[in-house]
Amino acid sequence: MVPPRFDSPVLPLDSPSDAPVTRRRELFPDATDAEWSDWRWQLRNAVRSGAGLAQKLELTDDERTGIRDTANVFRLGISPYYLSLIDPAHAFCPVRMQAVPVAAEARVRPGELVDPLGEDPRRPVEAIVHKYPDRVLLLALDSCSVYCRHCTRRRITAGGEAELSKRALAEGLAYVRRTPQVRDVLLSGGDPFMLSDERLEEILEPLRAIPHVELIRIGTRIPVCLPMRVTDALARLLRKYAPLFVVTHFNHPKEITQEARVACERLVDHGVPVENQAVLMRRVNSSARIIKELSHELLKMRVRPYYLHQMDVAQGLEHLRTPISTGVEILEQLRGWTSGLAVPHLAVDLPGGGGKVTLQPDYVLERRADATVLRSYRGERIEYPEPEERDVSCPYDDVWTKRAR
Ligand SMILES: *Cc1c(COP(=O)(O)O)cnc(C)c1O
Repeated sequence: MVPPRFDSPVLPLDSPSDAPVTRRRELFPDATDAEWSDWRWQLRNAVRSGAGLAQKLELTDDERTGIRDTANVFRLGISPYYLSLIDPAHAFCPVRMQAVPVAAEARVRPGELVDPLGEDPRRPVEAIVHKYPDRVLLLALDSCSVYCRHCTRRRITAGGEAELSKRALAEGLAYVRRTPQVRDVLLSGGDPFMLSDERLEEILEPLRAIPHVELIRIGTRIPVCLPMRVTDALARLLRKYAPLFVVTHFNHPKEITQEARVACERLVDHGVPVENQAVLMRRVNSSARIIKELSHELLKMRVRPYYLHQMDVAQGLEHLRTPISTGVEILEQLRGWTSGLAVPHLAVDLPGGGGKVTLQPDYVLERRADATVLRSYRGERIEYPEPEERDVSCPYDDVWTKRAR
């Protein structure tokens, strides 16, 4: 039998992303392998100024202006490893666009917000953002291995808050301890993996000791920007505090290099599940074939695509925002056409603090009492007959809920 024909709306890419071009030898010819794979060497040698960057990369006028005009707005910082992924020939290289400022970043438009997600009014103590009933963010520190040009928490990562003092951290932990509805704590910042193993453990150990904390998540861009930080020792440390999920932030398949793969697989091999949150950005990854390839490459290293985020309405980021419909159209080109595991949730974090909502293509054509009419991913109109009986209560619920534990 011949296989059925499927005319996918997403064209395959011409070239696989398997052989990333890294410019390590050109940019850092003197670095030994031992130095290159040492995350502290990477941090010591990070590029942190326009002058430093100009020595490594031929900058465009737009970038030169951007570096000058954002100097007082937000930090510049690029690890040698992430710098080596930049395509020097293309201003629209997705790694470059995430790391090198452009003039548009210094322009603030009406309606753009310093605190786009309304987090500051929801900080009961300095280190905690408590916006949802059963989960909180714990802000561990303000620094990162690379300062993403699309950062929407730059009021924190700009350096105003420094490493949270021991006191602020203790207050944060005390808040979680006295708030029993918190069953899920998301460690964020800044990037928590910028802390030493010892400092990280000083947070994880007391957190895990709180009986009502079921889940710990760590939001980090380390596997993307500084994968050598993911050592065996770190992976073992994280596994000790299971269930602990690492949530990382790959935005483009170009970022999935051999080094990144080793970092992610090391975590998973040690028993630490890894999820990905990508941000949809105009001209960086605003295409179905890029998002699809990103998902496939993530799954190949056992990282599950979790969220695709609509860009927040943050100051200086309009040039990276897409219309809401773009994300929905991308999902429409994934759902059904590829593994369900490869389809992230499209999330819009509502301006002002409403929290995240998710969007998806509307597959419902008509709702009637006897049937709902839907369209398939391939566009066929199909009826789902509704059951006559509408009582969906579960008679065993009471028994289950009142069982002895
Ligand atoms: C996104 C977010 C969370 C976690 O949301 P999930 O949908 O559970 O992943 C928690 N707190 C804040 C403030 C957030 O922005």
